[in-house]
Amino acid sequence: MIKRIRDVAEDEQYCTKSLANNVIKLNFTTTETYRNLIKYFKENNIFYHTYQLKEERAYRIVVKYLHHSTDTEEIRQKLLDLGHNVRSIVNAQHRITKEPLNLFIVDLEPADNNKDIYNITALQNKIIQIEPPRVNKNNIIQCARCQQYGHTKTYCNKPFVCVKCGGPHNSKECNKRKDIPAKCALCGGSHPANYKGCEHYHNLIKGNNIYRTPPIRTPPLVTNIHDRTTPPHSTPQQRRSYAEVTKSHEHQVEDTATTLKKTFRRIQRAVYTTTPTKQHDIEHAYNADQ
Ligand SMILES: [Zn+2]
Ligand SMILES: [Zn+2]
Ligand SMILES: [Zn+2]
Repeated sequence: MIKRIRDVAEDEQYCTKSLANNVIKLNFTTTETYRNLIKYFKENNIFYHTYQLKEERAYRIVVKYLHHSTDTEEIRQKLLDLGHNVRSIVNAQHRITKEPLNLFIVDLEPADNNKDIYNITALQNKIIQIEPPRVNKNNIIQCARCQQYGHTKTYCNKPFVCVKCGGPHNSKECNKRKDIPAKCALCGGSHPANYKGCEHYHNLIKGNNIYRTPPIRTPPLVTNIHDRTTPPHSTPQQRRSYAEVTKSHEHQVEDTATTLKKTFRRIQRAVYTTTPTKQHDIEHAYNADQ
C-alpha cells in the first residue's frame, strides 16, 4: 500500500501510521497531495474514510429554557447581533416520544469568541441558559454506510454494509423479510448492527479504542485522511446524536407508552444477550452474497 502511495506523493508530503486490522492512517502536509491521493483511491477502488478538519468543526452549545416554538431564524439573528455566527440550530426532541423540548442545539462557526457565548443569559426578554452539550463517553458515532464506529457516512468511502442483514448493500435497499431475524455485521449476533447491546460495541466502550473495530471485509483500508473538500453540513448521523443531549429530559414527559416501550426493550435486550455470536458467520454471509 505504502509503495502505491509513493507513486502519487513525495515522501515529505505525508506521513503514515499503521494501525491494527490492515488500516493505514495518513496525514498530509499539502492540500494538493491530499486531493491527488483521494483521486487515486477513487480510481483504484481503495476504500477510505476521512475526518473533518478540527478547524472546520462546529462549536456546539445547548440553549436551555427557550420555548420550543421559538423561530430558529430569530435565534440565529439574535445570536448574530451578539457576535456569534450560527451554522445550524435544531430544536431538540424527546428521544422516545419525539415531543419538542424547550432546548435548542446550536452549532456555531468556529471562532475565537466561541466561549463568550456562555455569558449570554437572555435573548431579548427571554431568560436562557447556555451550556456545553453533555458528553457521553459511551456514545461512539457509528457510520450509517459501513456500520463501523468512529466516523460518519459523510466522510466514508468504504463498501456499503446493511444495518439489518449485514449484506453488502445500502441499508435502504435491504430486501430482508420481517420474519427473518436481523444479522449484525460487527459481531454476527441476531440484532441490527446499530444495536447498543452489541457485543462488539461493548468491547469498544470497554477498550475505548475505535481502531480496534475489526474490518468486515479484508481489502486494504485507508483511513483518517483530512477532508478539505466536503462541506461541513449537518448530517442525519449528527442529528441522531442530538438525542443524547436530550437524555436528561426524559423524565419530564415520560408516560405509560414510554414505560411500556422501555419494558419491551429490556426484554429484547435479554433475548439478544442470550444469543451466541459467531464471527465466522459473517464471513460466510459475505461469501454467499458475493
Ligand atoms: Zn463508514
Ligand atoms: Zn440488508
Ligand atoms: Zn452485534
